[in-house]
Amino acid sequence: MIDIENGDPVILTKALISCRSVTPENDGAIEQLAHWLKEVGFKCEILNFKDDGTDDILNLWARIGNEQGPALCFAGHTDVVPEGDEKSWSSAPFEANEINGKIIGRGATDMKGAIASFVSATKKFLDEKENFAGSISFIITGDEEGIAINGTKKLLNWMKGKNISFDDCIVGEPTNPKKLGEMIKIGRRGSVNGALTVTGEQGHVAYPHFAKNPIPILLDILNDLTSDELDQGNEHFQPSNLEITSIDVGNKATNVIPNSASANFNIRYNDNFNKETIESEIKRRLKNFENRFSLELDHSGESFLTKPGKLVNDLSEIIFDKTGITPDLSTSGGTSDARFIKNYGNVVEFGLISETMHQIDESVDVKDIENLTDIYYKVLTKYF
Ligand SMILES: [Zn+2]
Repeated sequence: MIDIENGDPVILTKALISCRSVTPENDGAIEQLAHWLKEVGFKCEILNFKDDGTDDILNLWARIGNEQGPALCFAGHTDVVPEGDEKSWSSAPFEANEINGKIIGRGATDMKGAIASFVSATKKFLDEKENFAGSISFIITGDEEGIAINGTKKLLNWMKGKNISFDDCIVGEPTNPKKLGEMIKIGRRGSVNGALTVTGEQGHVAYPHFAKNPIPILLDILNDLTSDELDQGNEHFQPSNLEITSIDVGNKATNVIPNSASANFNIRYNDNFNKETIESEIKRRLKNFENRFSLELDHSGESFLTKPGKLVNDLSEIIFDKTGITPDLSTSGGTSDARFIKNYGNVVEFGLISETMHQIDESVDVKDIENLTDIYYKVLTKYF
């Protein structure tokens, strides 16, 4: 464990990377972060969440300040995806070596660099303004890259039980495709997986009247499911999208009508739909086939949009001042823990560069860490 000292974000990033916190392992990452936040005056709670059949996960909630003003929080995760083949890395993935102005290591950009930047920005802010009206908090989980059962969702629920709320939240996921400043995420699409099965009756292909072939029915169902577009998108979102991801019969025989046929699909939907309305739209499309199929739907997150307001506008201006780039206000990409946070307060996402995340030789520019720290610092001074 190292001390915060002058809060250099590069040193903090390296210290976090050197914890081998491959999900669901923690390897001291949460404790290290809590140690720094305690040093600058935060009240910290390390929470161990568990569930049947899942690994125990350490989470951190930390707060400083008072109720006399707005509450801003920073959210993120200290867990990382596996390093893959260690020998393919040009520098060991948990050594956090600096080569040509870049720190190489698993989690450098997703998202230990952003956490370090936020800690560093907060320290600088508190050094200058010990008594401010309002509060700053951290919501950090070790369960984002995994199944996300014992992470942010439970942490938010724990906070609710203690009557702890916040107004605005910045999630430090790597939102910029190539350059710092390119993209703020102000929403995300929802995602639902569907599994369709049609059961027929197995039989000999030469005697079809003794059998019932499920395949043509499944094809008709898929045709009705996909023939119309879901919507045309809107100002902030691309059109909702349905993709059939597999069709399975598993029949190796050439003379057998199979017993059943199944298909999977995924829908990424915008804020024209929610969980209920996307389900009823699916069912409406399948109404001609009532009782001829079974359908299971598995939701992984609803769509949401944080309407551009003060936080987004301030953040955009600060980013422009620092980088000369006007950030795109985007709702693209996969899901993140922001899908849980949006139920409790305004949430936007802005962090480092996504280009190398989850890859061999994941890396972050030292310059980007310093600039991101400065952006977060300016957000804090403008916010309070
Ligand atoms: Zn991430």
